Amino acid sequence: MAIRPIRVFGDPVLKQRADEILNWDDNLKLLAQDMLDTMYDAPGVGLAGPQVGVQKRIFVYDIGQGPNVVINPVLSQFEGEWDYDEGCLSVPGLYWEIQRPKRVHLEAYNLEQEKISIDADELLARVFQHETDHLDGILLIDRLDPKRRKQAMKSLREQSLQDNV
Ligand code: ZN
Repeated sequence: MAIRPIRVFGDPVLKQRADEILNWDDNLKLLAQDMLDTMYDAPGVGLAGPQVGVQKRIFVYDIGQGPNVVINPVLSQFEGEWDYDEGCLSVPGLYWEIQRPKRVHLEAYNLEQEKISIDADELLARVFQHETDHLDGILLIDRLDPKRRKQAMKSLREQSLQDNV
């Protein structure tokens, strides 16, 4: 069991697109286990590679039904609208109501390199979108409208000032 430090807002690794995973080797298994340990320790419902400084297209999640590892995800069939108070382990302590599609379809691979295909709704669909955004260098703040984004940046500045005191 190894808990890795979680990168927070301002770290450039969170703004870069992560690379496809090509090798299902022991390092990948170790990374997935560390990411699950880190997610449960935080605690959170999802964690993406860049959040532990790894530029690979992998995320882990558990919405209360056990641990899952998702590799090279592709989302499609975005449907509906759903408002949800969204937070992020890389933007600790702050939450915003964000509207995103209610349903998505996920195609990806698991840790055994088997293809997985999931129709997701509500919270699961939200986790898939949030974590896939991380793999594209997009943070939840980037999903806010300009006015709320400005307020969010102000809150983040104030928070980092407090942290430095
Ligand atoms: Zn996040």
